[in-house]
Amino acid sequence: MQQPSAKPNNRNNTLLVGIIAGIVSGALVGGFWPEAGLSVKFAGDLFIRFLMMIVMPLIVAAMVSGIARLGDIRQLGSLGTRTLGYYIGTTGLSVLTGILLVLWIQPGKAGLEHSKESITRADAKYRIEGNTIRMEASELPDSDLTTSTLHLLDRNLSASIDSVQRSGGTILITASGWTRRAEAVSPPEGEGAGIRLDRQPDARFMQEKRGIGDILKEVISGLVPSNIFKAMANNDILPVVTFSLLLGAALSMTGEAGRTAIMFFNSLNEAMMKIIHLAMQVAPVGIGALIAGRLGEAGGFGGFWPELQQLGKYAATVIGGLAIHSLVTLPLLLKLLGKRSPSGYAVRTFPALFTAFSTASSSATLPLTIECAEEKNGISKRTAGFVLPLGATVNMDGTALYEAVAVIFIAQMNGIALGPPELLVIFLTATLAAIGAAGIPEAGLVTMVLVLKAVNLPVEGIALILSIDWFLDRCRTTVNVWGDSVGAGIIDR
Ligand code: ASP
Repeated sequence: MQQPSAKPNNRNNTLLVGIIAGIVSGALVGGFWPEAGLSVKFAGDLFIRFLMMIVMPLIVAAMVSGIARLGDIRQLGSLGTRTLGYYIGTTGLSVLTGILLVLWIQPGKAGLEHSKESITRADAKYRIEGNTIRMEASELPDSDLTTSTLHLLDRNLSASIDSVQRSGGTILITASGWTRRAEAVSPPEGEGAGIRLDRQPDARFMQEKRGIGDILKEVISGLVPSNIFKAMANNDILPVVTFSLLLGAALSMTGEAGRTAIMFFNSLNEAMMKIIHLAMQVAPVGIGALIAGRLGEAGGFGGFWPELQQLGKYAATVIGGLAIHSLVTLPLLLKLLGKRSPSGYAVRTFPALFTAFSTASSSATLPLTIECAEEKNGISKRTAGFVLPLGATVNMDGTALYEAVAVIFIAQMNGIALGPPELLVIFLTATLAAIGAAGIPEAGLVTMVLVLKAVNLPVEGIALILSIDWFLDRCRTTVNVWGDSVGAGIIDR
């Protein structure tokens, strides 16, 4: 086993400084010059593509050579049991932290007026100019209205809002797709009074019809691919994990005959690590460009700040819960069970954590997670090769915590009281929904529908938290990757 270096060496320091410089300059560019941020976004997308390109061959090589290294295949049983025990235990602790925090802080108790699903202004005057509707800005809440449908009450007309512009005391709403009782009509003209805004959730949530049983069935049947190449082509991690496990186990049982193949996968694994090394070198630029691009999309700091303020208490609850789990619970476990220094371990995992924050995808981060664990923290290849690929899709502490907090927040906003039985259902379904979520951006938001339905809460409530989800997604993905890395440290012990 390679020993972890007590201090990150110079190369690590240079990389870390580079990544931090990338983050700071990305945030400044995207925050102050959103246009410039958008124009460098392609470099960030290229970085994600580069990482995704390595994921599949890496999983096969790392898992096969890791499992084949176990020697005695019976060890796989104990490695598997310990890994699952860690995943379930830490995800449970994380959800519990989230539930206790949201019940204590009660971010949705005030039932913020501007975040209600429907806003009616019966006397508000409006004037239609072409395809825009002009109103007094003070008539409407200072929140994201683009996810809403607009109704002109005096004319019985509805349309979907395309964009909203505030300048001085006026607000200009551009709307399209005018209908009267579901029949399409031409855009109206003139003046009037009385409007209503109904928040609309994204179409993807309305289509989500799966229940708990369906998700369980999907996770289990998703473990067995009908075609391994199709699974690889679709970047489906779980079936590829199963196949690689079986292949590694089978090769280790074939003795002499399997030796050449095992050597092939060992070499492939080494080669993949070299390619990941290259990814590390360009990480500062990739991470910076991703952050600049995302802030650019949000309209810079000026566009992002109002969103954050509006849902500030909710965002603070999620981030507070994630902070407790990642800065207290996981380090304690790493110290007590893994006998490792949490701070040194974290510093050596930073490149993976920053990549997780910038890509919002555990799967895309996997190559760097494995590199940091094996090369920097000295985790054995057999543990890293097993715990990390599986953890990237199954073990999501951050997502589970976030789902529980978000669902309880939606209940609070709607004035719905939740008793101990409902909280227990949320605890169980949030854990399951996190297991079922793929390691891709905003996957947790979609599986949250299952938690909402399990306690009979309105799916439309998701519209309340949409505007800020891209940011919280990055925070929870970072915790997901940190949870996997800590798991590798503990299980390796
Ligand atoms: N983006 C998260 C991940 O990749 C999943 C989620 O919570 O949406 O880990």
